[in-house]
Amino acid sequence: MSPPDCSSTAPPRRNGARFSTPNGPVGWQTAMKRAIRSQAQLRQWLGLDPDPRADQAEAFATFVPLELASRITPGDSEDPILRQVLTTSEELTDRPGFVSDPVGDLQAQRGGGLLHKYDGRALIVTHGACAVHCRYCFRREFPYSESGSRTLSWAPALRYIQDHEEIHEVLLSGGDPLTLTDGVLSDLIGRIEAIEHVRRLRIHTRLPIAIPQRVTAELAERLDRSRLAVWVVVHSNHAQEIDQHVVAAFERMRRAGMSVLNQAVLLAGVNDSAEALTELSLKLVDSGVLPYYLHQLDRVRGASHFWVDIQRGKQILRQMRGSLPGYAVPKYVIEQAGENSKTPIA
Ligand SMILES: *Cc1c(COP(=O)(O)O)cnc(C)c1O
Ligand code: SF4
Repeated sequence: MSPPDCSSTAPPRRNGARFSTPNGPVGWQTAMKRAIRSQAQLRQWLGLDPDPRADQAEAFATFVPLELASRITPGDSEDPILRQVLTTSEELTDRPGFVSDPVGDLQAQRGGGLLHKYDGRALIVTHGACAVHCRYCFRREFPYSESGSRTLSWAPALRYIQDHEEIHEVLLSGGDPLTLTDGVLSDLIGRIEAIEHVRRLRIHTRLPIAIPQRVTAELAERLDRSRLAVWVVVHSNHAQEIDQHVVAAFERMRRAGMSVLNQAVLLAGVNDSAEALTELSLKLVDSGVLPYYLHQLDRVRGASHFWVDIQRGKQILRQMRGSLPGYAVPKYVIEQAGENSKTPIA
């Protein structure tokens, strides 16, 4: 995917041994503009050595907002947030079974950026932009521009939903739908609200984690007054991603009547331990967010170094069940092309 359509401004340099705290008064769009956009910048900002070979993996561009980067521990090359955004030369290694479209999205396209794979719900690929580029992303090779989603033309998707009365829930995904402005988003939601048989709106987004000030009062107010039941699925993989600003964003969403869920991906070197995932679950439920899915990694080309053995995953889940309330244990699932739902593993 390509980076967002906003003009680039160079991020500030790291200041001595301390980081500036970039969660200050800047608006979310400024936060997008000043994000780190190359591995060289990221390494420099964090005081890491250059690695030109790893930088060859930047065909999938780098994008890391300072709000998220500031939660990385300086000098720690094993940092769980860093591992999600730093290129490694392993991305260049082809592994059998790791392909460009692992979940069959290209086949499921119904035009206008619509994916209708499962009964009762349809997904609109709203925009090619994301607030952070995750190296394990299953859509790292998704041809957003070819699928028309960057042209903001949702008419065919909306017509499809209108014509299918069995669709009660519309998912906005992407990319990240919250990279759209409040005005554009409000217009899209209005058009979905106008389809009588749609009852629920679901927003899949990593923005409340990456740039928590994206949850503006205007956005919260718009969703609060929607006739649709609004579910938001955020995406956090590690407790370290959830700082006070993120907790405050969760709170703004909940106060506006949204139900907030989290999905995570099981990632080697990031969260592949019962301790890490238990801590994440506790932090989420203590902030009023329910752990929803733990996804087995989609086998996308370039992400094989994040793969965790399924037996290991099952063992982690067993350990989590032993120490967490039932509602804090996510469903461990894998997405298989052609199946009519996510497939439970354990
Ligand atoms: C994952 C997914 C959904 C949502 O599935 P749930 O199990 O309801 O969370 C819907 N549509 C598509 C295309 C999906 O990939
Ligand atoms: S935010 Fe989601 S869609 Fe965007 S790069 Fe990360 S995992 Fe992929």
